Amino acid sequence: MGVLETDLQFKSGIIEHPKQSDGFSCGLFVMKIAESVLNNGFGNISFRSTLNDLAQYRHDIAEKILEFSDMKDVCSICGSAISHGTWLGCDECNRWYHSDCLGYSRKKANEIIKKCWSCLLCTSLSTK
Ligand SMILES: [Zn+2]
Ligand SMILES: [Zn+2]
Repeated sequence: MGVLETDLQFKSGIIEHPKQSDGFSCGLFVMKIAESVLNNGFGNISFRSTLNDLAQYRHDIAEKILEFSDMKDVCSICGSAISHGTWLGCDECNRWYHSDCLGYSRKKANEIIKKCWSCLLCTSLSTK
């Protein structure tokens, strides 16, 4: 057990990293710092920290969590795999949605099925 046998010596110190200037992004900072430490060690922890950057990180982390979660064949709003209403698939991200969960009428759902459709997540991203 290599690591346990070595004589680990911990010392306290100050790590340079961006300052959090809001009251609600603690978790995001923890994740970004952890990511930086995992990738580069404790040497230099730096990432941009404007509100726009934080919003982008939040989105990136959500994407990553979704990518590795087992949510591919369920409705992205209610989480159910049971059919109710019409299934609508986003042509950009391949997420699925119940038309009922989106609040779409049968008529609107049937129109969407016939053409390319991007979900609210994808359209809100592309209008940034
Ligand atoms: Zn649903
Ligand atoms: Zn989408």
